[in-house]
Amino acid sequence: MDCSYLRKTVKSADHNTLYTDGRPLTPLQRELVGRVDEVGVAWAERAFEHDRDAVFPTRNWNDLRDMGFLGLCVPERFGGIGADYRTYMLVASRIAYYCGSTANTFNMHNANALWTAGMVDDMALTPAQRASHERNRAVHYANMLAGRIYAQPFSEGSAAAAGRAPFGTLARRTEGGFVLNGKKIFASLSGSADYYGVLCTEDLPGATTANTLFIAVPADAPGVSVVGDWDPLGMRATVSRTLLLKDVHVSETAEMMPSGVYIQAASQYPHMFMTLTPTYMGVAQSAFDFAVAYLRGEVAGVPVKRRMYPTKQIGLAQTYVKLQQAWALWHRVTSEYKRAPTRAERLRAFACQHTVMETCAEVASDAVRLCGGQAMLKTFPLERMFRDSRCGALMLPWTSEICLDRIGLGLLYEEGESPKDDA
Ligand SMILES: Cc1cc2nc3c(=O)[nH]c(=O)nc-3n(C[C@H](O)[C@H](O)[C@H](O)COP(=O)(O)OP(=O)(O)OC[C@H]3O[C@@H](n4cnc5c(N)ncnc54)[C@H](O)[C@@H]3O)c2cc1C
Repeated sequence: MDCSYLRKTVKSADHNTLYTDGRPLTPLQRELVGRVDEVGVAWAERAFEHDRDAVFPTRNWNDLRDMGFLGLCVPERFGGIGADYRTYMLVASRIAYYCGSTANTFNMHNANALWTAGMVDDMALTPAQRASHERNRAVHYANMLAGRIYAQPFSEGSAAAAGRAPFGTLARRTEGGFVLNGKKIFASLSGSADYYGVLCTEDLPGATTANTLFIAVPADAPGVSVVGDWDPLGMRATVSRTLLLKDVHVSETAEMMPSGVYIQAASQYPHMFMTLTPTYMGVAQSAFDFAVAYLRGEVAGVPVKRRMYPTKQIGLAQTYVKLQQAWALWHRVTSEYKRAPTRAERLRAFACQHTVMETCAEVASDAVRLCGGQAMLKTFPLERMFRDSRCGALMLPWTSEICLDRIGLGLLYEEGESPKDDA
């Protein structure tokens, strides 16, 4: 489809105000967002084919590679762009504005860099752990800078991905490395990644979540296979098939975080689990902007204006209010990323994740109703955004339901209190 209507929304000065919370973008943020804008319309046009065939957006990833974005979150001292958490979030929301699946998969790659950078430096490590981490991450960052793609499959279809049980995928230490066995479901980038950043449990008697390891498995290692169909409702170009690991040997430099650090980091840096929110903010904004262009008669193929109907004006205004509420909370919470946030900041992070994922689905749904029947044809991007928008609330470890669960508990129970006290 011709997505030229996007050229106008992108150029609009007003549009850029959405990317600030009263503060201007830093020069680096402005430059990175601008680079996405240069290629984004082509991504939006390709998205139809990727979605229809449920295939990985390889050409978009080639663009990302050419732009140096595979090193977006690799620290500068290792040769990367060194984007911090908030910069990543801003850039990712812009990627999603053009293609949700590209942003969803880009999140998985970048989380491997973000999680292993400053966050780990802040953890209580022994000198030996610090030295081995420094050595190992240098290997992985060099891979990313050389254009290698990292996926991040942690889901297993059990309570593990929600942090309620140890991962069933096991890694046994051997002389000079590990042997892995297990199964990961929903491995986005399956078949296209060069490495899978796998969360697993060290194979020890009585192992708990404290024995979680984070290991990069080369896609071409003997014993790695990708199985199963992929024909989902939305985010189809993520190609999130099942990954099987059968007696897979990896070297010790495959370890991307020292043993036990993942669990420390998850409790001390809860915002690390919010990195999919920009994907869904971007999709929401894109669905909204499509509705505006459509009602103005500016979308190629349906040059009929509908903006003169008061019901359209009010409906659009109501959707705008929701979208602004979500952006406002998102900007605030993405600026609160830090070690050991306060109780209020933690609860706000859950509220933000819930708001973004639910608002995205609502905005896309509103946009379909506002635009009307022709707009939900597969010839227009809104139909795909409507389906993609539904996926955000399902993403572990912070599904919409889990967020509500944590907020409710957090509001009614103070530190050290538990529902067991009330039994
Ligand atoms: C497009 C897409 C791409 C994905 N890509 C990846 C990826 O790259 N890597 C990856 O690891 N995963 C990925 N996932 C998987 C995702 O993060 C979830 O793991 C997956 O959607 C969970 O599916 P499930 O049916 O096993 O959910 P379940 O865990 O069985 O959950 C089912 C329902 O129960 C609720 N629930 C579960 N646990 C609790 C709890 N403790 N308290 C309250 N409610 C609970 C959930 O909210 C949900 O509504 C992807 C998913 C999608 C849709």
